[in-house]
Amino acid sequence: MRRTVLAALLTYACSGLVRGADPARNPALSGADALYPELEKLYIDLHQTPELSFQEVKTSAKLADRLRVLGYEVTTGLGKTGVAAVMRNGKGPTVLVRADMDALPVEEKTGLPYASKATATNENGETVPLMHACGHDVHMTSLIGAAMLLSKAKDRWRGTLLIVAQPAEEGGGGAGAMIRDGLFQRAAKPDFAIALHDSATLPAGQIGVTSGYAHANSDRVDITIYGRGGHGAAPQTTVDPIVIAARTVLALQTIVSRENNPQDPAVVTVGSIHGGTRNNIIPDEVKLELTVRSYKPEVRERLLAAIARIAKAEAAASAAPKEPTVTVSEGGYKAMYNDPEVTKRLTAAFRIAFGAVRVTEAPPVMGAEDFGDFGREASCPSVMFMVGGVERSKFAAAAGDMTRLPSLHSSLWAPDREPTLKAGAAGLTVAALELLGKP
Ligand code: ZN
Ligand code: ZN
Repeated sequence: MRRTVLAALLTYACSGLVRGADPARNPALSGADALYPELEKLYIDLHQTPELSFQEVKTSAKLADRLRVLGYEVTTGLGKTGVAAVMRNGKGPTVLVRADMDALPVEEKTGLPYASKATATNENGETVPLMHACGHDVHMTSLIGAAMLLSKAKDRWRGTLLIVAQPAEEGGGGAGAMIRDGLFQRAAKPDFAIALHDSATLPAGQIGVTSGYAHANSDRVDITIYGRGGHGAAPQTTVDPIVIAARTVLALQTIVSRENNPQDPAVVTVGSIHGGTRNNIIPDEVKLELTVRSYKPEVRERLLAAIARIAKAEAAASAAPKEPTVTVSEGGYKAMYNDPEVTKRLTAAFRIAFGAVRVTEAPPVMGAEDFGDFGREASCPSVMFMVGGVERSKFAAAAGDMTRLPSLHSSLWAPDREPTLKAGAAGLTVAALELLGKP
């Protein structure tokens, strides 16, 4: 984190500034504080009842019920458990506001009185603990808060509001599933798409904005290297796939260090390598599992091509009996690009609503996020902004050393709920109002 940004964040974290947005700066937020007790109840309920990707049955039903009561036209079962809720309010742009619903197989260790004790059965039939360790419960509560505020402030905007509760963000491709299931035809097609993510590196209530690429293309690559197994004491009768694998792993490191333009972010990580059963047997094959990250599509293509080329060349160099198989998994996430023009507009609106000290530039990350699918598939600009969730005293105590704070997906991640939820609901409302038409 840049020193000046950190200094500003620490000043904010140590100050006693108001945490919600200032309604005087944005009249649509005048009811925001009064909504909080209801939002807190919803948050605690969602937090205690997490569900796995594509299993968000109870979660989606709760959200759909609330949206119906608020007067939205609700479509359920989109992409299995997704919900779309439409409010038409005259001529104007259609703005999609999205939250994701799924939780993670993590055992919560926050010690909070409302910590999750839930479990679920995963796709392998195993019982796993469950926790909203990525903060999707913050996203859903903020979404409902914004849906409430915007339904009450219909005299302040024109156009169509499309509220989306998406399943399976955590690796399931839930955004794509909703789109393929006819989200744009059965509900509405957006002119803008917005969303938020909670942040474990910003103080609670702080808004973080990133212009341009913010999340990376994420691809899974599986490589099987074939050799010819045999006795460990007779290597001359074999082709040893373990040696080929070792050389392949090292050669793969040269893609980023020697082939890639240093100005283009890229990651090639071999996260898993498996081969062999015991010390004196040369196995027939070795399996490698990789994660590959990039921003630009042309960089992605180049990385994937180089991986296949190197794997094949290393096998050929050892006279392997068969070319390795290299598979790129479907459902790889595409990079998330925050439209710079819309990011500029939203940043200005956030500064007015929250005060300039509450809005910071957030650095892009190589993590994956499928929210970008909505804008990409609808050919419209999209922006995801961050809402800080770190209790301000803890943020100040860490003094910029983020390794001292639990990250997202950690069993200890516990967003400071009041300032986080207030900023989340207000942030989505401010962003939607900026993009919707004016009466
Ligand atoms: Zn996550
Ligand atoms: Zn997430």
